Amino acid sequence: MKQLAQKLQHFMVGRYGNDEFSLFLSVIGLILTFLANFKYLGFLYFIGIILIFFSLFRVLSKNYNARRKELNWYLLWSAKPKAELKVLGNKIRDRKTHRYFKCKNCKTVMRVPKGRGKIEITCPKCRAKVIKKT
Ligand SMILES: [Zn+2]
Repeated sequence: MKQLAQKLQHFMVGRYGNDEFSLFLSVIGLILTFLANFKYLGFLYFIGIILIFFSLFRVLSKNYNARRKELNWYLLWSAKPKAELKVLGNKIRDRKTHRYFKCKNCKTVMRVPKGRGKIEITCPKCRAKVIKKT
């Protein structure tokens, strides 16, 4: 077993290895191949397999520059949905104690404690004021 681990380590020398983008690709690939079990969704199997192979290709690739460019692109592309997902998670977590408002001016998300009646909320970023019921 130790020998196998050593061989694998040797095999991975100089290769790009795993990153967030490869993980994302393989997870989406697995989800698609699972969904392919449902009626009319069989075509998803091939897309899923392609994504998994692309993920594997990235892990084993020796072209660091190209893989870094892809990772940067992915991080830029995923930043907004990730931030929105995080806010959604916080909203669910704090649903009993806080309310969330989006600043109309700069779209900053603000969190205020619940049950304070009508209060004036000042945006911490752009200082715009808004009156809301909490
Ligand atoms: Zn603002």
